[in-house]
Amino acid sequence: MRKSLLLLLIALLIIFLPKTSAFAQKFPDVPPTHWAFYSIESLASKGIIAGYPDGLFRPEAHISRSQIAKLVVSSKALSLNTTFKGYFTDVPQDHWAWQYIETAYEQGLIKGFPDKTFKPEDPATRAQLVTILMRDHLLDTSGTPFTDVSPDHWAYPYIMTAKNAGIVEGFPDGTFKPERFVTRAEAASILYRMLCPSNKLIAIDPGHGGSDSGACANGLKEKDVNLDVALALRNLLESQGYGVIMTRTTDIYLSLRQRCDIANNNKADIFVSVHHNAATVSTARGTEVLYYTYSSKGKKLAECIQVELIKAIGTRDRGIKPRDDLYVLKHTVMPAVITEAAFLSNPEDAELLKQDSFRQKIAQGICNGIIKYFSVSE
Ligand SMILES: [Zn+2]
Repeated sequence: MRKSLLLLLIALLIIFLPKTSAFAQKFPDVPPTHWAFYSIESLASKGIIAGYPDGLFRPEAHISRSQIAKLVVSSKALSLNTTFKGYFTDVPQDHWAWQYIETAYEQGLIKGFPDKTFKPEDPATRAQLVTILMRDHLLDTSGTPFTDVSPDHWAYPYIMTAKNAGIVEGFPDGTFKPERFVTRAEAASILYRMLCPSNKLIAIDPGHGGSDSGACANGLKEKDVNLDVALALRNLLESQGYGVIMTRTTDIYLSLRQRCDIANNNKADIFVSVHHNAATVSTARGTEVLYYTYSSKGKKLAECIQVELIKAIGTRDRGIKPRDDLYVLKHTVMPAVITEAAFLSNPEDAELLKQDSFRQKIAQGICNGIIKYFSVSE
């Protein structure tokens, strides 16, 4: 990326964080099922990270120490040094990153090596990244260390501080692998958690799509109604400060497995699948929310949404329903529900579902239920 463009991006970042949705896939090599998809998309939409000129992000590529300096200075929205000081013998004024490196140095975020070098092109390790990001934090070394980062490791206080703040998790085997080169995906994930520590991530799954229309009745196709309500729900949740990851934003087919993978891999806090109902008898009407039989948190989420949906749209209350046979409820690891706000197959419900204002009310009801769930579950 050209320096002038970067400076512009940072200037924009200082003035305001652009309000863009982090759902549409920006990089062809980072699909929504990628474990760092949401972090990468969020930071890219805020101009903090960018892909390569060919459009790829290269999530598994390593990241150099000078790129880390740029990342940390950009993420903290620091003003860039304009006078070259020459702190490091290997960072001359014609180095593309000298401003970032010198700014980070003056802020005490980087120190370099005892021989006055910075080794700008060396790949950064996981320990180095966490240290640079945590240097201006109040250190907190309480708790259980990673099995491969003992208290005499040079980066121990920074790694523990990041662990205690929920910024790093390490690996399932209890290690942190401090000397491993950090990948671009890992850096994005760590940075995202640092910038948005308590941001709840909600996976919204508009049911059906593409060749799978779902229920069709009274001139309505379920897949279209689902998507419309889901997009309205996304906007409402984002305006409340929630992170939202969508399984689809257009009329495409997705397998049930893909829908679960997107939510699971990105570690969403809850999963809300938006559907609308149909029955063989046209008299069936009203609202119900389904949850996984063996999930008490899923039941709680269903209760909150059911109550708020009924309040918002005034339909017949069919109650919440436990189900142990529905794929997305069974295979998502977070509390999950399927909303069925009204029946396409009922003429009165269908008339309502044709109205934009009614779809908006459905979205508002689900949104209110989610807000209530988070307020009572913590
Ligand atoms: Zn459906």
